[in-house]
Amino acid sequence: MERLDGRVAVVTGGSRGIGRGIALELARRGAKVVVNYRKAADAAQEVVQAIEAQGGEARAFQADVADYDQAQALMRFAKDTFGRLDILVNNAGITRDKLFMTMKPEDWESVIRVNLFGTFNASRAAIRYMIRQRYGRIIVISSVAGIIGNAGQVNYSASKAGQIGFAKALAREVASRNVTVNVVAPGYIETDIWEGVPEDVREAILNLIPMKRKGTPEDVAPLVAFLASDAASYITGQVIAVDGGMT
Ligand code: NAD
Repeated sequence: MERLDGRVAVVTGGSRGIGRGIALELARRGAKVVVNYRKAADAAQEVVQAIEAQGGEARAFQADVADYDQAQALMRFAKDTFGRLDILVNNAGITRDKLFMTMKPEDWESVIRVNLFGTFNASRAAIRYMIRQRYGRIIVISSVAGIIGNAGQVNYSASKAGQIGFAKALAREVASRNVTVNVVAPGYIETDIWEGVPEDVREAILNLIPMKRKGTPEDVAPLVAFLASDAASYITGQVIAVDGGMT
């Protein structure tokens, strides 16, 4: 297991689901973790307590990553609290699923704003610390929707494909500073993001998965921890799917 002792990580949207799983895993390996949340203060505090219970160090911090100033405050908090900033996991994300014919401009805008602007804002705010340190790991949680597209998710798929282009370009810009940028693209992972998705749609997606099962946050988190570690120092600009073989 790759260790992350002495590293400081920020996980956006870390109070539940995949982000929660990632925060716990990074902390288990020795990183100090800032658990970012937008509204769910209690849930974020629960993640902090779970990390402390396993012997780690963590703090919760409220920020809407869709807002550039709040993203900056989040990274400043990490640096001020723990003295450095090594790992950023761009995990915060939303869906507003609709068939394209009925999709409203606000459905498009809100998803692009959180998923794509949020990734820009958090990464832009974090990068200066990483470049100054000559060490950084940016991991973007995209989706298989950004690789193969999903009917009913034109907005989401566009935002997730946008994250991939973002990461590949940024990886080239900062490689010489020992900052890597990689993408993890989960498939069907059981979390609250699936709330409201009809059973027949879920069943159809399950049928596309050669492993015939949904994933869990614990299926995603170890890859993120590996990409955040020293062992992955020669890997950058890559997209790795965690999808049971779907793509
Ligand atoms: P989730 O809804 O449980 O978690 C998303 C988290 O992001 C929530 O805690 C939410 O509060 C937070 N968030 C939303 N907007 C935010 C904002 N503006 N600022 C800060 N935090 C914000 O869903 P999840 O499944 O855990 O999703 C995590 C990431 O994984 C998302 O980027 C999602 O697109 C991606 N993903 C999920 C799946 C899946 O099947 N669950 C598949 C592929 C990709």
